Amino acid sequence: MDKITERLAEIVGKDYVSTSAEERFIYSRDQGVQQPHMPDYVVLPDNARQVQEIIHLANNDSIPVVPMGGGLVLSGLTIPLAGGIVLDMKRMNRILEVNESSHYAVVEAGTSQGMLDAYLKKHHPRLKHSLPDAPPAATIAGNIAIHGSGHLSQSEGGFHSEMVTGLEVVLGSGEMVKLGSCSTVPGWFSRAPLPDLAGLFLGWNGTTGVITKVGIKLFPRPRFHDVLIYMTEDIDIAPDILFRIIETEVAEDINYALSPKPDYLNGFQMIVINLVANTEIELNMKKKIIRDALYDYYKTKESGFMPLPPAMKGDFLEAPQKALSKFADVKKGGGFEYVGAIMPVEKIPDACREGVRITDRYGITYSLGARIIGRGHSAMFFFAYPFNRADTQDIEKVSHALEDTNAAALKLGGIPWKTEVSGQKLILEQMEPQTSSLMMKIKSLLDPNGIMNPGNWEVK
Ligand SMILES: Cc1cc2nc3c(=O)[nH]c(=O)nc-3n(C[C@H](O)[C@H](O)[C@H](O)COP(=O)(O)OP(=O)(O)OC[C@H]3O[C@@H](n4cnc5c(N)ncnc54)[C@H](O)[C@@H]3O)c2cc1C
Repeated sequence: MDKITERLAEIVGKDYVSTSAEERFIYSRDQGVQQPHMPDYVVLPDNARQVQEIIHLANNDSIPVVPMGGGLVLSGLTIPLAGGIVLDMKRMNRILEVNESSHYAVVEAGTSQGMLDAYLKKHHPRLKHSLPDAPPAATIAGNIAIHGSGHLSQSEGGFHSEMVTGLEVVLGSGEMVKLGSCSTVPGWFSRAPLPDLAGLFLGWNGTTGVITKVGIKLFPRPRFHDVLIYMTEDIDIAPDILFRIIETEVAEDINYALSPKPDYLNGFQMIVINLVANTEIELNMKKKIIRDALYDYYKTKESGFMPLPPAMKGDFLEAPQKALSKFADVKKGGGFEYVGAIMPVEKIPDACREGVRITDRYGITYSLGARIIGRGHSAMFFFAYPFNRADTQDIEKVSHALEDTNAAALKLGGIPWKTEVSGQKLILEQMEPQTSSLMMKIKSLLDPNGIMNPGNWEVK
């Protein structure tokens, strides 16, 4: 063992440090098209004190540190571009508190979406949190670190980062801080009324510090659930249909999709409207409100609701939707990456046309779609391109398509989300110079030696 490995083993225990080629290989890549890069060490801390000691060591020896949750971000953000330590947070997966009356949970950073969901279903069945459609192994902290969104983002207040009620973080400098009400009183119930410092760690891709605990909002879990599917071939009416549904304020989740697969859906825009209620009467009333809101459209018979056989309904009622993960591997080659762009809802038709143009250019397949965020305040529009990881030509084509898509999203007036390093560069080039300069000042204050996820959010 070299000296660093020995010291890391003293901190976390020898079973939780690895320098073996096999394990470093696994941590050198993700499911997307970004080039792999080997870490020097894989380390699994058990608690925040150990994280702090690792960060001190890394500062003393100038070792890069890449925090990692589920490693499911797909755009290379957990690939250690400069080597160093991959800090796998999965051992820190304790659910520390569920406050039934103030509706929040406090979890360690490595707690997965699936764990919290299962725990709530078992111990607090009246409550739930907003689940992304990511595989259940994705972590709560990894998702808020990139401004993720999920099935309650339309109805319950936007991005998951907006549902954070407090954080505990080890800064890149090694200090440990609490942010939100938990910094001042015992409860983790709110970020207000204090100056909101949580933003220094949300959307930063692990470049400012390691989140060790998260307070996250919980919401009532209604007893009844149903879904309506609205179909149209006319791309340009989609935003108005979406606005009409949003205006009813009765939908829990609203998603839009356009995909050439399965064959029978080719050419159709599909709007998936999830509804929840505490009684059947309430559920039926909500369905009627949605139908009435779209009456002007379906009376023309050019668009309409698609009846769903019960066998198909289950897929649409799931959260997370496993059907999405299946689609992610539609080419059976295990490769999947998408540009998610946060953009105004009215840009959806142009984004669809651009996505189809780009995939035609490279002869690849696509799945395009959007989740409505807030009451139509924005949409997360995804341009998803599955590929075969064993086919180098396929990978190259998808890489070019993703690059073109990042540029196209910005041109359309959107901002690529959780984007890979090349996309981050495009954003920083277009950003007001005073804003990017402020970002860099903040980053160097929190991470003075530049050890945190180097390569990301950097102006060169
Ligand atoms: C089929 C499929 C569907 C998806 N659907 C959705 C969706 O509906 N909504 C959505 O938001 N995403 C979705 N995703 C994208 C992604 O999987 C999720 O956003 C996921 O929550 C990321 O979490 P993770 O734990 O895997 O993060 P990771 O990939 O481990 O990390 C993401 C980023 O956060 C940083 N990070 C991780 N942990 C910490 C920490 N403790 N402190 C500081 N920084 C940290 C990492 O360095 C990295 O920059 C989907 C992915 C797939 C494959």
